[in-house]
Amino acid sequence: MAASFPYIQAYGVVLCVECQTCLLPSRSSQERHLRQPPHHRKGPQLQALLDLFATYELQLPSRVVLPNSPCSAAIDGLRCYSAFTCCLCTGCLTRSKHALEVHVSKAHQQKPAQQVEGSSWRECTIQTFFAEKQHIRYFVVDDAKEAAGASDAEKAELGDTLERIEQYCGRFLKQDTETPIGEILSWRLLLFIVSKEVVGPHQAQWDVDEKVLTYRDVDLHMDHVPRLLLSDFQQAQHLLYDELMFGAQNLPRMRTWALKDNLDADAFG
Ligand SMILES: [Zn+2]
Ligand SMILES: [Zn+2]
Repeated sequence: MAASFPYIQAYGVVLCVECQTCLLPSRSSQERHLRQPPHHRKGPQLQALLDLFATYELQLPSRVVLPNSPCSAAIDGLRCYSAFTCCLCTGCLTRSKHALEVHVSKAHQQKPAQQVEGSSWRECTIQTFFAEKQHIRYFVVDDAKEAAGASDAEKAELGDTLERIEQYCGRFLKQDTETPIGEILSWRLLLFIVSKEVVGPHQAQWDVDEKVLTYRDVDLHMDHVPRLLLSDFQQAQHLLYDELMFGAQNLPRMRTWALKDNLDADAFG
């Protein structure tokens, strides 16, 4: 039974979960609330509830200390309303967009057409402990402003993003950690070492006189090199003239010096 009417000690209020609002502190107004729909309480059940509420330290609506605005999270069970707040001062919080436009226009000399969402005004979520018109005192509960504050802190280099990145890198991106990335990095490190030390220059080697180059089973004698070059040259010539140029022999030739890149030269011709 009392679960429907939790006592929020921090603010000195008792909440009606079903109505999503707080009850006034006087016994007579509480009785009225409980007798009316949707509660229809009466008899001993009603008296028990009123007796329970009497044990709470309830504040007058005007004396309840509101949460710091903006409150980081909405107060559980209390109705949320969407509203508009002025970005240029803290003096305007309203559920009517028109009222806000009038405020910005009068207080900050920005005509409605000039007003920009985000810099003139913004939408927000608000709550009030008491819904009766004369007791309404709204406070902002969304965290949009706080998020903006955080990015401002980053801009002013007061944030801790770098520190956090470093922390996460240290945790997940190290080769000695047991994470998938750690595994990959340690394999990479191993292959580095293998490629540098095991597959070394040892595989092709000179003889003592530096006349013969040995690579695996092949010996290349240095006096074979001109012959090798010549035969390769002949093969390349055959490829170029006979295969690629279809045997055309009488084409004009261009001197290689004409191909020289001299675009940065001062004089031409
Ligand atoms: Zn109620
Ligand atoms: Zn304002």
